[in-house]
Formats: sequence, structure tokens, C-alpha cells
Amino acid sequence: MIDYRSLTRKELEDLAGNMGLPAYRGRQVFKWLWRPGLSGFHEITDLPSGLRNVFAQKGRIARLKVATEQKSVDGTIKLGLGLDDGLMIECVVIPEKDHLTLCLSTQVGCAMGCSFCYTARMGFLRNLEASEIAGQVIAVMERLGLEERPRNLVFMGMGEPLANYENLTRTVQILTDELGLNYSGRRITVSTSGLAPEMLRLGQDLDVGLAISLHAPDDEIRQEIMPINRRYPISALINACKSYPIKPRRRITFEYLLLQGINDRMEQARGLARLLRGIPAKINLIPFNESPGLSFKAPSEEDVLAFQKVLTDAGYTAIIRKSKGQDIAAACGQLNTMPLLHTRGRCINTNTA
Ligand code: SF4
Repeated sequence: MIDYRSLTRKELEDLAGNMGLPAYRGRQVFKWLWRPGLSGFHEITDLPSGLRNVFAQKGRIARLKVATEQKSVDGTIKLGLGLDDGLMIECVVIPEKDHLTLCLSTQVGCAMGCSFCYTARMGFLRNLEASEIAGQVIAVMERLGLEERPRNLVFMGMGEPLANYENLTRTVQILTDELGLNYSGRRITVSTSGLAPEMLRLGQDLDVGLAISLHAPDDEIRQEIMPINRRYPISALINACKSYPIKPRRRITFEYLLLQGINDRMEQARGLARLLRGIPAKINLIPFNESPGLSFKAPSEEDVLAFQKVLTDAGYTAIIRKSKGQDIAAACGQLNTMPLLHTRGRCINTNTA
């Protein structure tokens, strides 16, 4: 069965051609596929009924089923979404002052094994299809009755987006299509734990924002908390950042989780300032939040402010970010759709890739 929501507009036009139809029939279908509320081909009223049946017989319109909904005291909403094979993912709707940001998952679980992340405890189950990634936007709009799509999309949910590269790029093509949800690339941020070769590919293939989960200024600390650093050490990551095509007035975002006594000292702040020199960078400082039974400690407020000051004195924009949705485990790195008792690893909560 063809998974129509995993196809780009061009692929649907080609499919129509292969069916002996004019390309515009493929365009028509594409346009309808990305309207929230569509339940089947019978609703595509500008297709002749015979054609509706032909499309319906050849494939399916993938839909994510909302299995759980949790709302935080700060307004953040986490949805648990059921996939066709019975697995589950989570996505998070984050209310900002006058708009919504939607945090999307790209994999079920994650293979990267970052030591501070709950998703890592699930291990890696599988990649999400493009229909399952882009479909999270539709599922949220339908569930929350939104007439307008969430303004910003961040690929920072479950999984390492660049480890599911083909489906990620296909998803972005679908989401930015003017006949679909018509997102601007400026409203989309892809986050990575540091897959350097794929970062370079991304820069060549798509015009989207890039965020890097850095969390340490040197290899020794970084590989303690992020095993990916053994494959792509900081020098490879920084070289990839320097080669990344950044448009004027845009910057790479560096996420830096502050863990008391591990990476929150002044020498690390100075090291970070040195490391990022020459890169158009914005730094998000995320103080770790302690959770019962987990070994990392939160930095003191004093240390967080002092760390920030070193960076701002060095000329960087460094913003202290408080994770939202902590009371419903929707904050960065807290997403996990398996009972933790049955998961492995030594990961705790906070920032995801
Ligand atoms: S922080 Fe991101 S890359 Fe690391 S394990 Fe968690 S989801 Fe994967």
C-alpha cells in the first residue's frame, strides 16, 4: 500500500503520471492530504468519484492516533501518538507569548545513548516515516482544534533527526510545500547531537535552522555524557559548523546543558567562548533539573549567571532557558514511551538532540 502522506508533491505528480493521469491530479491529492480533518479519499470532492476509489485502493492516508494527552501547569501539552505497528511516540506543544512551537519526534527511541536523556533509555526501535513525522503537525492541529498551524517546528523530540536523514529531508520538503502546510525554512529548526557528515549534507540540501546539542567544550567531558563524541569529536563538529552555509543574519544555536560540577565551571565557560569563536552562534544555557534517583545535580543559580556572563562578555548571545512541561515529563530529554523499569542505560532528563 502506498503511504500517500510520505510522498512529496512531485512524487504524487509522478504517481498520477504512472496511473495515466495528468500531473495536476497528484497536486490536488497532495493539497488535500495536508488539510487537518481529512479522513479519507471520499472527502476529496474535486476528484471524480472513480478516481477517489482508485487512489483509495492503491494506498492509505496515514493517521496518528492520539493515545494520551497531558497538560502542564505552564500550558505545555504532551501528546502520546500511536503508530500503526502499535509503537508510540510523543510530541510536545509549547506555548510562547503569542504563538505555539511544536517539538517533533523523528525516531521511536534513540540510539545515541546520551547519559542525561530519558529517550536514550528506550534504546532505538525504528525510524519514523515522513508521514509519521509531518503527521504530528496534523495530529496536534486536529486534537487541539487549531485553525492555524503552530508557528515554529523544532525537531528536538524523540530520536536523532539526522540519523533518519532521508525521512527528515522528505518531511521538510512536504512541510514547506506551499500547497501543503507552507512552512518557511526559517520556522524550522533541526537539532543534532553532532552527526558531522549529515550536518554538512543538511546545509547543502535544505534551508532550515540548525541547533547543536554541545553540552561540553572539550572531548573529555563530552564523551562522558555523549557517546557520539567518540565517533565525531568536537573538532569534527566545529569544522562542520564552520563549513555550514549560514545565511546572513542567521546563527547556529548551541544547546548547553549545565550539570553541576561536570560542565558548569568558569574554565568550561571560557573554553566554550574560545571554541565557538568565528561561528555565528547563539547559545542556549539549560540548567539541569534534578529528578529523584538520578545522579546529576542542578547548577546553582549563581554559577549559571556567572557562566552566562563569561559568554556575554565574550560577545555571544547566551540565553538561560528554563525547560517547560517538566511536571508532565515533556521537557527536553524527558520523552519516553516505555515504562522506565524496562529500559536500559543510565540516562536522566533534560535536553535532547
Ligand atoms: S539527547 Fe537526543 S540524541 Fe541524545 S539520546 Fe536523547 S534523543 Fe537521542
